[in-house]
Amino acid sequence: MIFEAIVVGAGITGLTTAYVATNRGKKVLVLEKQSRAGGNIKTLKVERDNKTFLFEEGPQTILANNEAVYKLINSLPVEVVKASPTSNKRFIYKRGKLIPIPLKPWEFFLTPLVSLKSKLLLFREFFEKPIPTEDESVASFVRRHFGEEFLNYFVQPFVSGIYAGDAQKLSLRYGFPKLWEIQKRYGSLLKAFFKEKRVAPKGELISFRGGLIELIRALERKVNLLTDAEVLKIKKTDGNLFEVISKKGTFKTKKVIITTDAQTTARLLKPFYPPIEVLKEIYYPPLAVVSLSVPKIGLEGFGFLVPPKEGLKILGAIFVSSLFEYRCPKEEDCFSVFLCGDTQKEVCQQKEEEILLTAQREIKKVFPQIKEFRFRKIRLWKKSIPQYWVGYQRYMNALEGLRKVEPNILVISNFVEKSSLAGCIEKGFKVGEQI
Ligand SMILES: Cc1cc2nc3c(=O)[nH]c(=O)nc-3n(C[C@H](O)[C@H](O)[C@H](O)COP(=O)(O)OP(=O)(O)OC[C@H]3O[C@@H](n4cnc5c(N)ncnc54)[C@H](O)[C@@H]3O)c2cc1C
Repeated sequence: MIFEAIVVGAGITGLTTAYVATNRGKKVLVLEKQSRAGGNIKTLKVERDNKTFLFEEGPQTILANNEAVYKLINSLPVEVVKASPTSNKRFIYKRGKLIPIPLKPWEFFLTPLVSLKSKLLLFREFFEKPIPTEDESVASFVRRHFGEEFLNYFVQPFVSGIYAGDAQKLSLRYGFPKLWEIQKRYGSLLKAFFKEKRVAPKGELISFRGGLIELIRALERKVNLLTDAEVLKIKKTDGNLFEVISKKGTFKTKKVIITTDAQTTARLLKPFYPPIEVLKEIYYPPLAVVSLSVPKIGLEGFGFLVPPKEGLKILGAIFVSSLFEYRCPKEEDCFSVFLCGDTQKEVCQQKEEEILLTAQREIKKVFPQIKEFRFRKIRLWKKSIPQYWVGYQRYMNALEGLRKVEPNILVISNFVEKSSLAGCIEKGFKVGEQI
């Protein structure tokens, strides 16, 4: 049998691609290395002493900011849940306190997060011109436009929260393409804000009643999937087909869709186009996600982020019990705490139990009223989120080179253009419609 396409990897990108193409009557096979589908998506559901805990150990929510997300979830038997209305309350940790992130312009002028001097710099920002270079780090852009304090107390915490990354290395153009476009058009972000009435990302924060894994379960039921089927090699046959050699057998196909990490992708595709090896350089920092519960302390909001200058050994935490209903017992509060990332990777060199204790110790510094931790579990990601560093264009050039020699191999992994769940769904949808 000859497949129309073989998708390598059954994370959200691969499953979405296969689902959309299968719905259009195409013969598609998904090959997954692990014994389970979902990739980064790992929902942890635990029943203990008649209590139910539901934590996400990988991605926490989908920021539904494109049409593909709604098309996908509306076509599947999943129960969508929206983040609580208080989830727009987010905090930054400063000098032992959680300070709300200003949501309105006038709140910004009152916030103790940055000094009056930094606030006054905003007036100067109005006169900034577009970047003359082809790329720039997020840190260098922010420093020029808003100053060092703004970088330390707003932007670096967000870069940790989104990419587990370092603003000094992350590319503005590829890490935050919308901001890049805006500054190209207006120079000043403030000017853009006044003209377009928004600069911040739009979209609802959603998940599913059973956690993100519910989406994966719904998708995997609709596609032709083989698990424990690591792809070892891809070869071209005489008849312009591909032979995909996996641990579960060899399959013939017209197209190959790759959704694997950068290092695996480089290894599988090197025989077709040797310069693709450059992908091996793409860095994925380690990240630890610690799930904790404590006797109720009254958490409200989305969570908080920690500026590196504040010296805590955590990047931030999400208030799980406040974000979505039915995830934490009523008499308890639940957190997902994030550690390591590119800026604190040394924390992940400790043993898992030590990382867990670090998370508990640091959370207690933020909430000294915590008397005990009840639920505690850690998930260590040796490789978490791909970093879109300055110089990222060379990876896109290599992929473009591959496309020219092999147009029937498509790479849509999360190191290509977008790594958010919504971005992965959008890419999967687009490619699924082209198969
Ligand atoms: C801890 C963490 C928190 C995150 N938080 C968020 C968040 O809150 N919101 C958000 O939008 N995004 C978040 N992200 C990013 C997002 O989760 C990922 O970018 C997204 O899940 C990637 O999906 P994917 O299908 O492209 O890749 P993956 O999920 O990595 O799937 C790739 C699949 O390929 C398989 N594979 C690898 N090699 C082979 C092979 N040789 N043969 C066959 N199969 C193979 C892997 O086993 C895996 O299942 C987070 C990521 C992490 C790690």
